[in-house]
Amino acid sequence: MSGRATVSHDVILVGGGLQNGLVALALLARRPGLRLAVVDPAPTLGGNHTWSFHATDLVAPLADEVEPLVVARWSEHEVRFPALARVVREPYRAITSERFHEVLSARLAGAPHASWWRARAVEVAPGGVRLDDGTGLEAPLVVDARGPAAAPVTTAGWQKFVGLELELDGDRGGPAPHPRPLLMDATVEQLGGFRFLYVLPLAPGRVLVEDTVYAGGPELDRQAVAARARAWAEAAGYAVAGVRRVEHGCLPIPLADESVAPPVDLGPRGVVVRGGVHGGWFHPTTGYSFPVAARLAAMLAETGPAPAEVVAGVTALWAAHRRQARFARLLNRLLFRHVAPAERWNVLARFYRLPDATIRRFYALELTTADRARIVCGRPPRGFGLRPRFSQEVS
Ligand SMILES: Cc1cc2nc3c(=O)[nH]c(=O)nc-3n(C[C@H](O)[C@H](O)[C@H](O)COP(=O)(O)OP(=O)(O)OC[C@H]3O[C@@H](n4cnc5c(N)ncnc54)[C@H](O)[C@@H]3O)c2cc1C
Repeated sequence: MSGRATVSHDVILVGGGLQNGLVALALLARRPGLRLAVVDPAPTLGGNHTWSFHATDLVAPLADEVEPLVVARWSEHEVRFPALARVVREPYRAITSERFHEVLSARLAGAPHASWWRARAVEVAPGGVRLDDGTGLEAPLVVDARGPAAAPVTTAGWQKFVGLELELDGDRGGPAPHPRPLLMDATVEQLGGFRFLYVLPLAPGRVLVEDTVYAGGPELDRQAVAARARAWAEAAGYAVAGVRRVEHGCLPIPLADESVAPPVDLGPRGVVVRGGVHGGWFHPTTGYSFPVAARLAAMLAETGPAPAEVVAGVTALWAAHRRQARFARLLNRLLFRHVAPAERWNVLARFYRLPDATIRRFYALELTTADRARIVCGRPPRGFGLRPRFSQEVS
């Protein structure tokens, strides 16, 4: 760091979103003596999301730390396709940005050695960070998790969605239409891609309804998709009293592996780890990042800020992540390049006939060799086996 860098820390977290929130919580739990700086110019930490995840995605020391962030818990969830309705008996959880900000900002304010710098990082290098007001921060470990960068060069398509958090009219309501999360209702019109509705019954009188499509381009007509989501909710029996919050996303579905080297830079004065979606730590097929963000956070809490240990830990974790991500990208290729858009739901319906544990490991990016064989070679009930397409792909 050149210029007037003066303030010393042990760890600097650039970006206070999901990844660095989990890193902060893990470090505060495991290494409370560390001088920790979070840098994020946003008025609140965590942006505007509802993050959901499988309860089993949490690893020590995060399980206890994440518990206060959780706004809803379910013991199972379900999916619906034209010829399949399935309850998956895996516990599921949801975190809202609102709760994330509340808990994380209070934890930072209450920790004697932690601080939140409400500023933009303009220079990030091993050893330190320069803020937009000219202040310099120094630390042996910097975790750069500034969120989505430019889209990867080669995408198979995009996962695009608009979610409405709806307030429900209790007086008009009968029993809740969906007592457990409905992760995919793909019985809806497919509209030129793989389309489904996603429903999280967050609390009595409050539900998140999201209309999602996996399609070619990143264009998203937010108003039209929001209207579609609301119409679906009303048709499903929700007595909508109002819209409490709207969220949207357009997540790239990558085809090629553009991040071969581990996302870590070592210099004479420290190390920078690129974390979160910024560093490529996400599921190439689902676009989700919670399970991998949790693993990276737990690993950094284990190593602490010592650069050599951080490099070794990130390199090992990245190698395992890449092995899993490679298979997920292959699935992307098969789904987008070899299956017509209107028929993609069929592949997912077939996937949801696999055992609960395989489904969970798919979402967690922890597939075993046997799981992969099941996904690719299993006997398809509706004539949409991936095996012939897989042979074409690798020949
Ligand atoms: C609406 C939505 C819903 C999603 N739902 C899920 C889900 O249910 N489960 C799941 O696993 N994944 C989900 N994802 C995908 C992914 O997990 C999220 O995008 C997740 O927030 C990524 O975490 P992150 O920390 O990498 O980035 P972000 O959470 O995007 O955080 C990046 C942070 O960096 C800050 N920042 C940017 N530039 C600078 C700078 N120069 N200096 C300092 N700070 C900076 C931003 O203000 C922001 O706070 C969702 C994505 C979206 C968009």
